[in-house]
Amino acid sequence: MSLRNVQLTPQLVQAVRDAVDIVAIASEHTKLRRNGRRHVGLCPLHKEKTPSFSVDGEQGLFYCFGCGSGGDAIKLHMLLSGDDFSAAIESLALRYGIPLPAPGREKKGGRAAPELDRVLEAAEDFFMRALERSPSAKGYLERRQIPAELARRFKLGLAPPGWRNLVEALGPHFKLTELEAAGLVGRSERRGGEPYDRFRNRLIFPIRNASGRLVGFGGRTLEDDKAKYINSAETDRFHKGMLLYGLDLARRRAREAGRILLVEGYFDVIAAAASGVEEVVASMGTSLTGDQSRLLARYAEEVIVGYDSDQAGEQAYRRALPELLAQGLNVRRARFGEGHDPDSLRLARGVEAVRRAIDEGSDAVADEIHRLTPPDVHRSPRRRADAAKAVADLLKPIPDSVLRYTYGRDAADRIGVPVELLWKRLAIDSRSLAKEEGAPASERKLVRSLEERALELLLDPRQPALVPEAMPPEEVFLDPAARNIFRVVNALYTAAEGFPEPKAVVAGLKGERDAVDLLARILLEGRFAPAEGELVGVLSHLRRRWMQTRLREIGTQIREVARGSDDERLERLLEEKERLSRSLHHLGES
Ligand SMILES: [Zn+2]
Repeated sequence: MSLRNVQLTPQLVQAVRDAVDIVAIASEHTKLRRNGRRHVGLCPLHKEKTPSFSVDGEQGLFYCFGCGSGGDAIKLHMLLSGDDFSAAIESLALRYGIPLPAPGREKKGGRAAPELDRVLEAAEDFFMRALERSPSAKGYLERRQIPAELARRFKLGLAPPGWRNLVEALGPHFKLTELEAAGLVGRSERRGGEPYDRFRNRLIFPIRNASGRLVGFGGRTLEDDKAKYINSAETDRFHKGMLLYGLDLARRRAREAGRILLVEGYFDVIAAAASGVEEVVASMGTSLTGDQSRLLARYAEEVIVGYDSDQAGEQAYRRALPELLAQGLNVRRARFGEGHDPDSLRLARGVEAVRRAIDEGSDAVADEIHRLTPPDVHRSPRRRADAAKAVADLLKPIPDSVLRYTYGRDAADRIGVPVELLWKRLAIDSRSLAKEEGAPASERKLVRSLEERALELLLDPRQPALVPEAMPPEEVFLDPAARNIFRVVNALYTAAEGFPEPKAVVAGLKGERDAVDLLARILLEGRFAPAEGELVGVLSHLRRRWMQTRLREIGTQIREVARGSDDERLERLLEEKERLSRSLHHLGES
């Protein structure tokens, strides 16, 4: 999410770059092991079983041999959180206590993000204090057997009864427009736009995004309000379809366990956590979106769906299933017994019953195949055809062709049709299969370009210094990212008369994305020690390649210009050709 008018001053960005600890950021998402100067572990950005993710804390860079992602700490944070660049800078600044510059004057009713953070945090604080002061609300939590420790971990709060509690408590500190922009306050049409609290007499659940940033609130009524649950109004920050309640607390455990429990409501999350299942998130009452499914796939290989067993829950589950399967997730369905959700089951039968229901969740695809192909499906040709179509629709989103095939063969047996017929239904196109089963990224990247090798050598601390004349002009680097890196290296080299530290080069690139990513790959992809004279050789090779290219260009231009009457230009080109030919000849001799 872009947060609009945050002033991303170069000073702020640099301060964030200096402060962030890439090892800490990566460690929140994967277990890292120290290996010399590096840390290695399973890649948090793609699914893998052997570690190919490598972090260099000193240089502040990461690289994954498996999926080819690489870059600096800010890029890693962006990939893991879904924040865009400005949101990433902001959220990292907040996290490392770097003061944010005062927001620019309001633009088109837009609010600066730091203000939004302050409003949301002030509201969270207000709600928590209100709960602390309310014996009846605390009594309610006790009756629902929510331990105080859990209430604190989830920062539960209370919106007291009445229409203006929050408006009055926060009014002196914030503008009304700010409270509105935070989704906390509405305006009464009937009463001349008078502001009122959106949350009244409700238990409050603060909602955070994956990186733990407060984005909004959910509220459950404490009386018999028709709307049992309401959420913050959609704001810049609060998009229900992109959030999963509890993910910030669940993600580490989910990664360790390789699984995540998906439930419907806030209380279900708390009930599961109270039962010792901490890897739990809620989709907050909407049908599961593709964005939410992608978030889940980022943290676990297996999703256990723990939706209610009632009709609405079953329907929501059926709608969610293709989304989850499409992400390559292994899906299981936990059933809590007639009419139960995790919360009601815990209250009725205790935490063991909840845990057992989760652990014993059955394979969702196999279940669905059984449901779609009842034993009497053979009886009518029409029912066979319908079943075949339904199974094909079920299997279609599964990206893994072997998995799809295995399920399909089982289903074809049950329906009593040759499996080939199902494949026809699936109409799997051969191109997508080829792509999926193609060579892994690690193999594709083994051949390193000469330009990258040159940069790698220039940044190798074992590299002996060169005479300044050996440094080529930057044009010899044809790849724009490589050229940018070389420009920085060259400038630092000239200034200090020695090869720069990689860290200085990263800083010098000032966050230029492609260049930083390339640098991460070059530095972390593994090194061969420089051979004697290799750098000089590589550089002159690049120089020669560039000269030859340039000579060919000039040749073409000369032929064109010679037909016209621009003698001056012709003269210049002939001179350049002469000069290049001489240097090339000279290079060839040295
Ligand atoms: Zn990876």
